[in-house]
Amino acid sequence: MPIQVLSDDLASRIAAGEVIERPASVVKELVENSLDAQSTRVDVHIVGGGAQSITVVDNGHGIPANELATAFERFATSKIDETSDLISIGTLGFRGEALPSISSVARVEAISKHADADAGARYLVDFGKTNAIEPAGAPQGTRIEVSGLFTNVPARLKFLGSAGRELSRIQSMLASLALVYPHVAFSLSADGRERLRTIGSGKLIDAVLGVYGAKIAEQMLELEPGDPAAFSVDGLVSSPSLSRSNRTYMTISVNGRLIQSRRLSYAIEQAYYGFLPERRFPIAVARIQTPLGDVDANVHPAKAEVRFLREDLVYSVVQRAIRGVLSASAPVHELGAGRASGSIGLLRTPGSVSNIGNQSLPADERSASAGFSQWPDPSLISEQSRLLETPTGAESETNSTNTPKETLPVLRVIGQAHETYILAEGPDGVYLVDQHAAHERVMFERVRDRFDENSSESQPLLEPATVDLAPGAMTTVQEYLEDLNRVGWGVEEFGTNSLIVRSVPAALATRASGDGAGQVFLRVLDELREGGSGETWSNRMLASIACHSSVRAGQILSTDECKDLIRQLEQVQRPNTCPHGRPTVIQLNINDLEREFKRR
Ligand code: ADP
Ligand code: MG
Repeated sequence: MPIQVLSDDLASRIAAGEVIERPASVVKELVENSLDAQSTRVDVHIVGGGAQSITVVDNGHGIPANELATAFERFATSKIDETSDLISIGTLGFRGEALPSISSVARVEAISKHADADAGARYLVDFGKTNAIEPAGAPQGTRIEVSGLFTNVPARLKFLGSAGRELSRIQSMLASLALVYPHVAFSLSADGRERLRTIGSGKLIDAVLGVYGAKIAEQMLELEPGDPAAFSVDGLVSSPSLSRSNRTYMTISVNGRLIQSRRLSYAIEQAYYGFLPERRFPIAVARIQTPLGDVDANVHPAKAEVRFLREDLVYSVVQRAIRGVLSASAPVHELGAGRASGSIGLLRTPGSVSNIGNQSLPADERSASAGFSQWPDPSLISEQSRLLETPTGAESETNSTNTPKETLPVLRVIGQAHETYILAEGPDGVYLVDQHAAHERVMFERVRDRFDENSSESQPLLEPATVDLAPGAMTTVQEYLEDLNRVGWGVEEFGTNSLIVRSVPAALATRASGDGAGQVFLRVLDELREGGSGETWSNRMLASIACHSSVRAGQILSTDECKDLIRQLEQVQRPNTCPHGRPTVIQLNINDLEREFKRR
């Protein structure tokens, strides 16, 4: 065949294959148009999983009658023009492909009344065949009905799942949009039955309530609003007492655009490291804001993926925000919480009865509630009720100074086990305290408070130590010299790749004397340069100093020393996790013990 330019009709059908894959993609495109039209209500009706019909009704600004036909032409859009900068697009649509694509593979009826018009208009496009515009009575907004999807493309029809499967895709997609747009009231009905409804109050927690229900909404934690000036993330993430067996409960948006990003989902998962058992996943809504020019939305046919200019920065902002709220609210870890099973790990016996009572719950809820009994941590409860009462907007600002302190139960020390764990009795069971993790937490808060007050003490070394640095490490030292000095390190350059350590943070004094000081400095520096985990540099430095000044596993402690450590742990702000987020305390619940011993 000679080279020919494809007819508009054929080109549309080819393009449709990229944009419209299945009923859920039709819903997504139509609803995004409604959102771009400033709607505050969007109602979606589905028949037969969307293959029979999809109707989207909105109350947005509508389409003027004289533009209705144009809206269905290829590359016709009101959202960009020649002068637009393709990189900073604020609307969800911009390519003008959705309506022509959909109407080339379905029968589409559009009824719209523009805000400034007296009457509405109706336009019908039947598998690419256009008709005349007719007047129609209609309220302000747009109603688009798509029926017989793909009946002219049998190949595509074959790839559709059952009506139930397609409906569930639609439902989860619409749920995600409802979470990203809490100020819009969404509803979904399928074959006349309501499937989803949000009230559009503007509060994210209300959207979560509409989408996931009250039980889940109660267990969500609010991300502390970050620095609004630049990159920031807000949203809600599930407390560690709640988890799911797959990743589909993570909703991510960038500048209001719902996106899919394996790397971002992974960043969220990683933030839960140490908080969730393996192969359990959080429920999360993360709404990322970046400068518009920092993301390219024009890299995916369905605009489901975006490209970030500063990818790593986005990941670390997300991770830090989630990690922050998790460590701030972490309850005492119960033994067995680190496993998918709910039994108290060590004592688990075949035929364990500890899951009874939860058997009727679906698998998801069962493992979530069985593994974590509700530790009556007052701070957590007040955190949750606060969350439910206050809007997620600006009024609900929280900062670390008014975050309630975590509490540790009153513990009576029994002794030390395996030269690593302090065994204690508490009000609701037996507690095991990791002596290193606990001491680390104590030391961390001590050095951090000193550092914050600019009153860190420094201990001069009788004999300064010389250290040889790894390639590139000198740059790190120079870059952070001020913080290093502020925390108590006195170092001097000595040749291109060597340093003299003249003084050490007082917290390290007993451990780091003589050559030891140099070794500790190198190790701290190594840990700092490894980075990761989204923590700030100064927090990592403080954590590293805390680590090196703490008792180790394998060190014998007298009962008095154990008591002293527990007493110190009681004083700190966050006694339940070490600075790296690992638990300091694990509880063997008294009820579980009684059950395991068949006392009741
Ligand atoms: P795009 O969204 O990329 O502009 P579409 O094919 O999805 O392209 O829509 C074409 C145009 O039709 C839009 O630019 C918009 O002006 C108009 N339009 C479509 N749906 C609606 C709606 N629900 N409300 C108001 N205008 C709409
Ligand atoms: Mg569109």
